[in-house]
Amino acid sequence: MRLLVIGSGGREHALVWKLAQSPHVTQLWCAPANSGIGVERLAKNGSLVECVNVGAEDLPGLLAFALERKVELTVVGPDNPLALGIVDLFQKNGLRIWGPNQRAAQFESSKVFSQNFMEKYGIPTAAAGTFDNAVAAKRFCASLGGRCVVKADGLALGKGVLICANQTEADRAVDEIMVSKAFGAAGSRVVIQELLEGTEISLHALCDGTTAKLFPTSQDHKRALDGDRGPNTGGMGTYSPAPFLSDAELQKVGGQILGPWLQGCGEEGIDFRGIIYPGVMLTKKGPKVLEFNARFGDPETQVYLTRLENDLVELLEASASGTLGRMELKWSPMTSVCVVMASGGYPGSYEKGKVISGLDAANALPHTKVFHGGTMLKDGQIVTNGGRVLGVTALGKDLRIAQAAAYAAVEKIHFEGAHFRRDIAAKALG
Ligand code: AMP
Repeated sequence: MRLLVIGSGGREHALVWKLAQSPHVTQLWCAPANSGIGVERLAKNGSLVECVNVGAEDLPGLLAFALERKVELTVVGPDNPLALGIVDLFQKNGLRIWGPNQRAAQFESSKVFSQNFMEKYGIPTAAAGTFDNAVAAKRFCASLGGRCVVKADGLALGKGVLICANQTEADRAVDEIMVSKAFGAAGSRVVIQELLEGTEISLHALCDGTTAKLFPTSQDHKRALDGDRGPNTGGMGTYSPAPFLSDAELQKVGGQILGPWLQGCGEEGIDFRGIIYPGVMLTKKGPKVLEFNARFGDPETQVYLTRLENDLVELLEASASGTLGRMELKWSPMTSVCVVMASGGYPGSYEKGKVISGLDAANALPHTKVFHGGTMLKDGQIVTNGGRVLGVTALGKDLRIAQAAAYAAVEKIHFEGAHFRRDIAAKALG
């Protein structure tokens, strides 16, 4: 089978690495990929994964490539091509592709759509209001005592969410998004939610339009610095499972969210085939959904796919063709921890092109895999090429062992200015 994976981050490296293990795959391309993806080999025939120089948002370019190479299944990693309608475009041209169509991708591409949907179908979420007028928005923030979260409606590279502790911060946030248009058109409307307190976890479920198969729990670390300080990032590290819910509690929470979600999709005629990923706050008043994403999380994918025991091609095929009900997800009982190594300065501005050393030594450690994010090959050397550079991932018999193994691998890797959190999974260890 000939596969194309779209994207170039750590999530896509993890997808490629796992797909390459499938005996079904005879050829695998990734567009635009990174330097870690380009050295993966297929289990079936030993051939290298091929990197394709077409951007993840160049829909006509990707379509032309898939048609020319007779790609049999395209797997979409990031949210932007989904929001742009890549699934609809490929299907119109007779190509098989895995991921939600443009309408279904609105769960992520529009916070207003998601908030309205959650309220309509009784999915537990934060108290919220939707506004296209800054004065009314500020008035609503005041009604919450200024303790609120102001969210730009549209996609804003994960940055359009501003957390406010008081009315001064809330006024500034509304001005930044709605008046100064810091996130462009994404900020013409905002969702304002009450500020929730509790433990945040990531849920993922694979869906085929009518069935949703829940993954184990995981937990991301969004803030840049230890102790959850500093600015929000794309994610500085993850681990799975997260011990805040027992298996029975996870099934219950999953049911409270996915039950009404599936029912709503049915009633609205939304055919969701892909990953639905609710960010959930476990509050004193029960679980509440903060937001939906419509694709695999990054770096959640790195910990999930190192634990997944199924053939990923078979799962994605079942998700795309509506036959997931027959499949059973199988997970390693091991715990997985992923520590992200980022460029100095991230999530603010940072320099690129720093030479990375120690990758082979880290990968040689047992149960360890270094997934590349922002890397590229330059003059025969692997150099940094983005904010989140590497996702250093290790499995262990328990969380403490997995955490120690991931940090042992991190210690082997060096590049100028490297920044990583030293407390990934610490919350779960007490
Ligand atoms: P989102 O993109 O909506 O997930 O927001 C990014 C991050 O902001 C989340 O992962 C949370 O850490 C935080 N966040 C979002 N909404 C809320 C809320 N209502 N209360 C507290 N924190 C929130």
